[in-house]
Amino acid sequence: MKEVIVTPDPRLRKKSTKAKVGDPEITKIIQEMIKSCIDWENEHEFELSAAMAAPQLGYNKRIIVVREDMNDKDNATFVPLLNPEVIKTEGKIQSDYEGCLSVPSIYGKVPRPSKARIKAQLEDGTEVRLKATDFLARTLMHEIDHLNGILFIDHIKGDKDAFFKLNDKGDLEPLDYDTYIKGNKDLYPDDED
Ligand SMILES: [Zn+2]
Repeated sequence: MKEVIVTPDPRLRKKSTKAKVGDPEITKIIQEMIKSCIDWENEHEFELSAAMAAPQLGYNKRIIVVREDMNDKDNATFVPLLNPEVIKTEGKIQSDYEGCLSVPSIYGKVPRPSKARIKAQLEDGTEVRLKATDFLARTLMHEIDHLNGILFIDHIKGDKDAFFKLNDKGDLEPLDYDTYIKGNKDLYPDDED
């Protein structure tokens, strides 16, 4: 299994380059991504792999894979999207929980617009446009952020009430900002002392 890289790995902070349709390396990366999502989920009882971006496996290519049905843990079908872009966001700003395979054990309540229009290519080069709302919109924006070197923790930096952890019953509980987040170089490596 290809290991998911975690912050502060600098590859998570790089802007990814365009994925070329038909490049055999892209197919290989997509297969590794889907396998890693499934393997990770099998090791994490309470969590679901909703999606993954290629930089999380150390590839700075503009590829994401998104779960076909977010509500069904038994459906392990993932849809690969190449060069996805947010064209437009709409709707109210909503705050909801996000986690990330590359930010272990930490969850955040992240504000994002409730709707997003996305443009991308399928693996065969077909251009697709999606109108996503709520959790799917959030997931797509989170993954596209990865392609630009942005993590969800960047959106809530300094917000003392936005950080959470999973307890051993699988529930989210608040994480003390000053103790665990503030000045944490694993999360914000470029912060000055
Ligand atoms: Zn992530």
